[in-house]
Amino acid sequence: MPSDDTITQHLECHACRYDLKGLPRSGRCPECGLFIAFTLEQRHTDEYFAEQDKDMKEYRERAARADALLAAQESDVARWSALLARWEAIQSRIERVLDRLES
Ligand SMILES: [Zn+2]
Repeated sequence: MPSDDTITQHLECHACRYDLKGLPRSGRCPECGLFIAFTLEQRHTDEYFAEQDKDMKEYRERAARADALLAAQESDVARWSALLARWEAIQSRIERVLDRLES
């Protein structure tokens, strides 16, 4: 009769990979003698680090997207600056022509 203490899912012993399903959490691996609690603790730690890795990957991807956006904006700024410079050059030529016509 399984109690709350029983491992209900497939769980490999951390040391020897024996399937601990059906065994009490408070017991030991029948193959190698490792405390089942150790395997459970280890599994939580692994899940924690997997979660951290996932978060880190997301941050890196977000940062990469932000970099790409910034690079695109910088190239827009460069394009607009070049257009503005050309426009200012045209304006000063027009002013010089107007000055000559007026004098
Ligand atoms: Zn074992």
